[in-house]
Amino acid sequence: MSAEKFFNSIDLLRCPVCGTAFSTYGASLRCANGHTFDPSRKGYVHFAPNAAPSRYDKALFEARRRIMRAGFYDTVIETIRHAMPKDAEVVLDAGCGDGTFTKALQGKTTVGLDLSKDAILLAAGGGGPVLWAVGDLTAIPLRDGSVDVLLNLFSPAHYAEFARVLKPDGTLLKLVPGESYLREIRALLGDRLRRETYSNEAVISRLSERFSLTDRVRIANTFPLTEEQARDFLSMTPLTFGIAPDSLDAGSLSEITIDVELLIAHK
Ligand SMILES: [Zn+2]
Repeated sequence: MSAEKFFNSIDLLRCPVCGTAFSTYGASLRCANGHTFDPSRKGYVHFAPNAAPSRYDKALFEARRRIMRAGFYDTVIETIRHAMPKDAEVVLDAGCGDGTFTKALQGKTTVGLDLSKDAILLAAGGGGPVLWAVGDLTAIPLRDGSVDVLLNLFSPAHYAEFARVLKPDGTLLKLVPGESYLREIRALLGDRLRRETYSNEAVISRLSERFSLTDRVRIANTFPLTEEQARDFLSMTPLTFGIAPDSLDAGSLSEITIDVELLIAHK
């Protein structure tokens, strides 16, 4: 029955290849040009069968999920929820990863989109009403002007596509790292870090080409860490890509700083 939730929301969806509407065709979604997508029994649709494999693998998403469940991002989730209009009809989480944020920030209808099939499999695992989709941010399988709240959390953006799917009065909520985000890991990496400092100004200037930034909210906290959590943080962050995990001393990480900025923007 997992196809049912997609059929019930068929008016929200559109073909990611040609942009036309879907109708049901047996157990499939089929567009006017014959592009056909089959909702999986696991509760998601694979809209990007030709996508290159992601460098974000299953182990990374599992580590991230354990960290999310341990509560390190609870204040962040609360802040995002507070910025969302009450009773949002349609929420899209673009770049939803393992779906922990998505599930915590649902609207009446919620779509979780990610290019990583591993991430979507994890996200869809628990069942539930969210419409999970493996798909590309550059070809979102949703109709023009259909989304009330677009979440783009620690994820790349495609602002032209975001502007297309948002309603005229829709809200874009983008979460970006602040300058002290995971600063303890940056210190541990030292000169192996590709980029020493991080600035959001380039992100904000690109966002401002299509959206008007209405507010910026900074959330910063430092938490104590167990060694196991330290290892999870080290394996979930792109900061350590290309660095052998054995060469990092997780035991020396006793605390971690979550410093993020929520960008609130409108068309
Ligand atoms: Zn099509």
